[in-house]
Amino acid sequence: MKIPFFPYSELYLNNKDEYLKIFDDVCSRGAYILQKDLEDFEVACQKFLNVKHAFGLANGTDALIIGLKAMGIGEGDEVIVPSHTYIASAASIHLVGAKVVLCECGNDGMMDVDDIEHRITESTKAIMPVHINGRVCNMDRINMIANKHNLLVVEDAAQGFGAKYKGISAGAFGSFGTISFYPAKLLGCFGDGGLIMTNDSEVAEKISLLRDHGRNANGDVVAWGLNSRLDNLQAAILHHKLKTYDMDIKRRREIALMYEEGLAALNQLSLPVSPGNGDNFDVYQNYELRAKSRDELKKFLLDKGISTIIQWAGTPVHQFKELGFDDVLVKTDAFFNECLMLPMNMGITDDQVRYIIDQIHEFYR
Ligand SMILES: *Cc1c(COP(=O)(O)O)cnc(C)c1O
Repeated sequence: MKIPFFPYSELYLNNKDEYLKIFDDVCSRGAYILQKDLEDFEVACQKFLNVKHAFGLANGTDALIIGLKAMGIGEGDEVIVPSHTYIASAASIHLVGAKVVLCECGNDGMMDVDDIEHRITESTKAIMPVHINGRVCNMDRINMIANKHNLLVVEDAAQGFGAKYKGISAGAFGSFGTISFYPAKLLGCFGDGGLIMTNDSEVAEKISLLRDHGRNANGDVVAWGLNSRLDNLQAAILHHKLKTYDMDIKRRREIALMYEEGLAALNQLSLPVSPGNGDNFDVYQNYELRAKSRDELKKFLLDKGISTIIQWAGTPVHQFKELGFDDVLVKTDAFFNECLMLPMNMGITDDQVRYIIDQIHEFYR
């Protein structure tokens, strides 16, 4: 059996005829940029996420940069972000001129809420929780810290489309929240794509200018802006996929439960939180576990045809010495000695999941 980590071509081939129809329809209308398909998708996202404003942007990284700019975060400001995140979260902070302040992740890989407060200084402007792997951070505690110190909360929800905490969507807690539609993300398009959401109308106004050359609704340039619009064609495809996205989430949670039931007996593993009914509603962008003898397990599985990945190619942000980081983050280091992501996507079959489980048992035997 050969199981890729992510079956990129299946993303298209599984529904090829429907996508070709959309392609033909959109392109025949010549509707490429800022057209009705994008507007419709944005409205659908507002409904799905239960937020007041949602804008389709060129990618999730732009979404973070535009959000930070809209909040006026820049030179002289500090933003606290976990080291267990994509370089894009940190890069967005750096690129608006602010200082990246890294914190630890906990045993579960989520932002370690106990490691935030002592990193707050006079210059701290915001906390950036990252809803890694499709699970929302403990927003009650993060909001409490932010309120106590008068800080903004800005959310990197790139991996959390549709994840919830106490019924509220990832990305809907803070001043703004961002989503990525990169192909391998929960809701993936055929290229780069992103979204920014906010419940604040003033912030929304700034975002709408920033993503389109500073142009207002009349087409007048009233501010400095970027070109960062989600392509109308990608929006049409994403809108189509959004209609059945609830079923995708259901399937991901089903796979997570299969992994959990199949692997729970192995005390060499530490598994992600169960898809239960607590405060969190997890959507499993990834199934990231911790494993003893991780490197040997990874190699063993590869020999059996199973591709796994260590997130961020094995490097949390604080380990990028070339970028000037010299932080000592022992919990994050320990996490990265053991973490591994098993295949988790819409292409994987029950038989494949069972095969992966069997092979992991075989390895520890
Ligand atoms: C994917 C991702 C991003 C960046 O999204 P792009 O659309 O690839 O720019 C940012 N943060 C996290 C946590 C991600 O996983």
